[in-house]
Amino acid sequence: MKRIFVLAMGLCFGIVFAAAMAPVPVQAKATFVTIGTGGITGVYYPTGGAIAKIVNKKRKEYGIRATVESTGGSVFNVNAIMAGDLEFGVVQSDRQYQAINGLAEWKDKGPQKDLRAVFTIHPESITLVAADDAGIKNIQDLRGKRVNIGNPGSGQRQNSIDALTDAGIDYKKDLKAEGVKAAEAPGLLQDGRIDAFFYTVGHPSGAIKEATAGARKVHFVPITDVAKLLSKYPYYAKAVILKKLYPGATNKTDTQTFGVKATFVTSAKVPDKVVYAITKEVFENFESFRKLHPAYQVLTKENMLEGMSAPIHPGAMKYYKEAGLK
Ligand code: GLU
Repeated sequence: MKRIFVLAMGLCFGIVFAAAMAPVPVQAKATFVTIGTGGITGVYYPTGGAIAKIVNKKRKEYGIRATVESTGGSVFNVNAIMAGDLEFGVVQSDRQYQAINGLAEWKDKGPQKDLRAVFTIHPESITLVAADDAGIKNIQDLRGKRVNIGNPGSGQRQNSIDALTDAGIDYKKDLKAEGVKAAEAPGLLQDGRIDAFFYTVGHPSGAIKEATAGARKVHFVPITDVAKLLSKYPYYAKAVILKKLYPGATNKTDTQTFGVKATFVTSAKVPDKVVYAITKEVFENFESFRKLHPAYQVLTKENMLEGMSAPIHPGAMKYYKEAGLK
């Protein structure tokens, strides 16, 4: 017994000794970056996943390990990036504009001076989904109804408020406003606990598929009277939700509304080489990136540089200059 013990101890020391003497492989220190997205049934979450996938393929070359986090959305992402809790995030173009200029949710905090743009991604539309049995044909019909306008932290919350205010509706008095996350809204609509919900999202998205595929019949509500809104806010543009993307919706035609763009942002504090590597990999693998989500069909390298209001991060700019895009 004693002999076996001595032998085993000897073996252990041998292994430890051998390990200590083995040459340490020269490896770049790993840089961990986290990308803030949105609800898992939105388009931000798969977008973060698409970017992480492309960058992680070159893990050996750059030493970057990107991971994705599901979050409350645009406003949460800006604040978490500014606090240093996230390195990157997907953020609506209107929220990028407001954050850098100290407007809306940033009115009290002031301009978020360290916010930096990297590139823009897919178009998102202010999507109003209503149950057919709730009698909602236009935005005015939302009066007195139970409507999810979006959780604090989401991008859609202010878009819903803007659309309602523009229609002369006070969301605090004229309707029963809910503030739940977009991922929960389709279930609530199907269960009859809300009559409608707003979601600013790219199409097609899992959440809208879920909302339009249930037993309770639902449709998209057009938001058409937007001239005033568009002239008041430089970041809004007209948009259309294609009927063919959601066969379960009872609309007979495409739906007119207004929209923004999803953008990819970071902080001035994130090192140039990290932002350069991510930008380079997305643009050099543009064709494979574009195939990762149907909402990216309209993307071109050129339009991915349109719609940024924060200064472009120098790491991204370095790549754009090299590639002749700027
Ligand atoms: N636009 C939404 C937001 O900013 C998120 C949409 C998505 O996750 O695709 O909160």
